[in-house]
Amino acid sequence: MAKIKVGILGATGMVGQRFVQLLQNHPWFEITEVAASEKSAGLTYKEAVAGRWKIGSEIPDRVANIKVKECIPNLDCKIVFSALDATVAGQIEGEFAKSGYIVSSNAKNYRMEADVPLLIPEVNPEHLELIKQQKKNRNWKGFIVTNPNCTTIGMVISLKPLQENFGLKRVIMTSMQALSGAGYPGVASLDILDNVIPFISGEEEKVEAETLKLLGRLNKDKVENAGIKVSAQCNRVNVKDGHLETVSVELEKKPRIEEISAAFRYFNPLKKLKLPSAPEHPIIIRAEPDRPQPRLDRDLENGMATVIGRIRKCNVLDYRFVALSHNTIRGAA
Ligand code: NAP
Repeated sequence: MAKIKVGILGATGMVGQRFVQLLQNHPWFEITEVAASEKSAGLTYKEAVAGRWKIGSEIPDRVANIKVKECIPNLDCKIVFSALDATVAGQIEGEFAKSGYIVSSNAKNYRMEADVPLLIPEVNPEHLELIKQQKKNRNWKGFIVTNPNCTTIGMVISLKPLQENFGLKRVIMTSMQALSGAGYPGVASLDILDNVIPFISGEEEKVEAETLKLLGRLNKDKVENAGIKVSAQCNRVNVKDGHLETVSVELEKKPRIEEISAAFRYFNPLKKLKLPSAPEHPIIIRAEPDRPQPRLDRDLENGMATVIGRIRKCNVLDYRFVALSHNTIRGAA
């Protein structure tokens, strides 16, 4: 099968670099275009990211010498993966979709639009039906599918099997979020060394709203939000990658702890599809009392697993646990 040509918008940023890394040697996709701001356009990719390539491995040879272009819809590819800054993503992604490209976006701009799928493939693949409505409503030749916020993703992957098996009523989540979540250069070192910052602008609102859409039910051409209550408190901590979240839940049924563990362990709705980047085990349970930890567990399943530990009873809601998810891999690219 000939590979599908793909472009990366915002290819020079933290998430864009992850796309470059994860798409090398991909069995279906081949990077033919990289695009970013005017400042980077005209340089080779290697020149554009000089001094700010923050991924452990080398820049892949095939991409290093590609000329960075501006984000204008005249790129030689069928799909664009967008890692654009939200200040420009709305307009640029819309122009690409209008011109016939398939846009997969990491930015917040279109996530909550009624005719745009907000997708976690294991959680709500049926929401892709919204694409038909989107193309009709907007008269676009292409379309946009969005990825949730990096903090929402790990939490919702853990909530889905609970919702399916036991019914979900209320959720309280406190996050400890990695520095790479703020892009590059991100948070100033003097602000975060020896410190925790108990505020990430807009984050709590995103987690609370996106969760209801993701766990909502598709009714004809609309998503009906899930009837659950979510309260999120988000903190920035001095960790490079990996968002850690403590979660308490109230459920309709009152299962035993072992039943909750089993629901997590057997959650694997995409297994049969054998998708190239999908984790073999979307949820991994760590039995040790002090896990998951970002440095030790974020790279399990190539950064695609949600790692859960400390499943136990809660004195206020019913149950509580800790979840960890890699923010620039599972949470973004
Ligand atoms: P970043 O490191 O700041 O990168 C931003 C990218 O946008 C760069 O490639 C930049 O190009 C490009 N850009 C900025 N202004 C532009 C313009 N006027 N025209 C064209 N391109 C422009 O940000 P990031 O952390 O990778 O995040 C990218 C997106 O993903 C954001 O919407 C963010 O909210 C979302 N996201 C991030 C994470 C995470 O963990 N980091 C997780 C989920 C979602 P230049 O280099 O040329 O300036």
